[in-house]
Amino acid sequence: MNSRSHTPKAAHKRRHGASAQPVSVVTGAAGFLGSHLVDLLIARGHKVIGIDNLVTGTTDNIAHLYGNPNFTFIKQDVTEYIYLAGPVDYVWHFASPASPVDYLELPIQTLKVGALGTHKALGLAKHKGARFLLASTSEVYGDPLVHPQSEDYWGNVNPIGPRGCYDEAKRFAEALAMAYHREHGIPTRIARIFNTYGPRMRMDDGRVVPAFISQALANKPITVFGDGTQTRSFCYYTDMIEGIYRLMMSDIVEPVNLGNPAEITILEFAREVIRLTGSRSRIVFKPLPKDDPRRRQPDITRARKYLGWAPRVGLTEGLRATIEYFKSRR
Ligand code: UDP
Repeated sequence: MNSRSHTPKAAHKRRHGASAQPVSVVTGAAGFLGSHLVDLLIARGHKVIGIDNLVTGTTDNIAHLYGNPNFTFIKQDVTEYIYLAGPVDYVWHFASPASPVDYLELPIQTLKVGALGTHKALGLAKHKGARFLLASTSEVYGDPLVHPQSEDYWGNVNPIGPRGCYDEAKRFAEALAMAYHREHGIPTRIARIFNTYGPRMRMDDGRVVPAFISQALANKPITVFGDGTQTRSFCYYTDMIEGIYRLMMSDIVEPVNLGNPAEITILEFAREVIRLTGSRSRIVFKPLPKDDPRRRQPDITRARKYLGWAPRVGLTEGLRATIEYFKSRR
């Protein structure tokens, strides 16, 4: 593996003394994954500065942290220059619209945060001598011609299709991270995040998990797009956040897939949601959105081997917890 030996812990100790607290900056801190990452970092002893412009995130996700001396929130668009006083050890770049409905509504902001926002976040890491982790995506594989997808597959992306704004922004972000690594020696990490779900997803973000659960809870028709034979592989957020943390603390510069390899068709998924909610909903079929990937399943060999990581939470268990969350929010 092409990795650079860099020990942020050693640098951190040199700078702050052995007992000082690590400082993390999380962009997209009010989002679904960003806010869970903030919680994990605080639980592991970090001081966290969260940045979010609240375009798709919500302060509800971080409200429990108000008054916590280890958390500071800055409402800012990360495509603008990020000025922070004091040391920073880790930059976690999670800011971006991430659901197809959101990035179809916000194509330019999606492109800007992937390009300009990643540039600013990398610039911050460079200035502070910090490690950097990019929240990338399985969408870099597009509608994949290789199955399951391993990190050495270069993808099948339509740059000018409706998903192009997200896919190409993340592909550019990966290229920029690698350029900062090669040119400036920044210790960069790239997490290719596959479909992840759990509490704090927005009920109306359009993604299949909140869509089907909210429809089932209201006994409304479940909208399966296409014939429902397309597949996804769903990872519970606790597994994902642990994988992300391990990746940052590793020395792996190449992209690493993080996701749950348990693949399921969308039609089977709809039936599982109906079963677990005890809903009276029926299934209706709607047109398949353009460029909707036919199959998606992560090959997580690299994560297993180098991070000692694999998901632990099965779909039924994770869905039960997610359903409870959505019930509590109705
Ligand atoms: N989907 C669906 N009904 C919905 C929302 C999504 O059948 O109400 C399908 C969508 O076409 C895709 C899969 O579910 O095949 C996952 O969609 P999602 O928006 O969650 O994210 P994606 O994996 O496509 O990025």
